[in-house]
Amino acid sequence: MGSASRIVVVGAGLGGLAAAIALRRQGFEVQVYEQAPELAEFGAGINISPNSVKFFHAVGLADKLHAISAEPIGLTWRDWGSGEIHNCLPFVDFEQRYGAKYYVVHRSDLHRMLSEAVPQSSIHVGKRCTNVESRNGSVGLTFADGTSAEADVAVGCDGIRSAVRSHLFGGEGPRYAGTMCWRALAPTDALPKDCHDRHVNQWSGDGGFVISYYVRQGQFINFVCVRQQPGWTEQSWSVPSSVEEMLAAFPKAGDHLRRMMGAATSCSKWGQFTGEHAAQWTRDRVTLLGDSAHAMLATFGQGANMAFEDAYVLAQWLRAGADDPPAALAGYESVRKPRATWVQQLSRTEVRFKKQASTWDRLRREYVFLTRHRSTTRGVYRSIFGYDPVKEWRGS
Ligand SMILES: Cc1cc2nc3c(=O)[nH]c(=O)nc-3n(C[C@H](O)[C@H](O)[C@H](O)COP(=O)(O)OP(=O)(O)OC[C@H]3O[C@@H](n4cnc5c(N)ncnc54)[C@H](O)[C@@H]3O)c2cc1C
Repeated sequence: MGSASRIVVVGAGLGGLAAAIALRRQGFEVQVYEQAPELAEFGAGINISPNSVKFFHAVGLADKLHAISAEPIGLTWRDWGSGEIHNCLPFVDFEQRYGAKYYVVHRSDLHRMLSEAVPQSSIHVGKRCTNVESRNGSVGLTFADGTSAEADVAVGCDGIRSAVRSHLFGGEGPRYAGTMCWRALAPTDALPKDCHDRHVNQWSGDGGFVISYYVRQGQFINFVCVRQQPGWTEQSWSVPSSVEEMLAAFPKAGDHLRRMMGAATSCSKWGQFTGEHAAQWTRDRVTLLGDSAHAMLATFGQGANMAFEDAYVLAQWLRAGADDPPAALAGYESVRKPRATWVQQLSRTEVRFKKQASTWDRLRREYVFLTRHRSTTRGVYRSIFGYDPVKEWRGS
């Protein structure tokens, strides 16, 4: 049985870069292969919740994360017609309750910060992986440009339409979840002061919801508007759209939201897909991480947070089990799969929950919202935000 020292990561998204960072810290030689001709992320915000802020502390990047992030003061539920706040979860005691802060950050800033933590000579762009196969004690990878690579272990971090996953396990690929979203950024100073604040605001209304928050130290408001729409087939994450189209899609949104939508300087749309749940993540010396393993709806803002948790746990299992990589990868999967599957399912049910169809729905949602946070020892928020990949990597 050959031990693991050379690791290939397929995909340089947030998950792939996090994996490279965590693995390098454990002394592995890591090469990252990315299909895009250059490293880039799209312009939008992302929530980094306390569970994965612990990852950044563990890999020595907490100060850098803090420097590029905004710190929201709480999470609200608002009526999207009147703008009235029905409920607010202040973040003031989050660090004490859940062990770390809650941040929001511009994706490009986060992606750049992560990529700068990996030696540029280890990141190979323009390399679309077309085949991965276990050989006797190693893994062989082939790329679309005709080149190839060999490693002791390969980690498929190639997103929801993962080539690595389909080579390992086949399957039908992601399914449309019946909701589509507009994603936009509006400059804060183009909006009246009463239009926004330092919360992560969740605006619910008849058949849809909007999530908005500051990014880039409050210079921009990032917002995502979600509504039901049958029959979306376009698979891109970023279909160009316009303010007019976005406004027309949310005719019942109130004045606050319409002013915010009207001030957007960039706007795109996409259909939400969920990853077909992979029955298995690991085969021999190849495993999956991030969206390739457990793509989920963005309703809880946990897709990337799960990938950061994965990255830490994977590196620990491989360090501890470097002499037997297949067993180490199986250990990683046994710890991560139950948790990621649970959050994946939670995100799916949350979609129905966020759309305020009636007063009854709203009251039920507010009740659940309060009980989620009230408990200091259990409950959904405790389980998501209070999780510490550093303490729990063995699943203890
Ligand atoms: C609107 C929206 C809002 C979200 N908000 C949040 C949030 O607030 N918090 C949160 O935690 N998550 C959020 N998510 C989810 C999060 O963005 C994803 O879970 C996360 O980006 C997944 O990272 P990844 O590295 O696994 O995959 P990806 O980001 O998809 O990266 C995959 C990489 O692999 C490359 N690749 C693909 N195929 C190949 C191949 N064959 N060969 C080589 N390279 C390949 C791709 O080019 C890409 O660079 C949100 C998602 C959306 C859509």
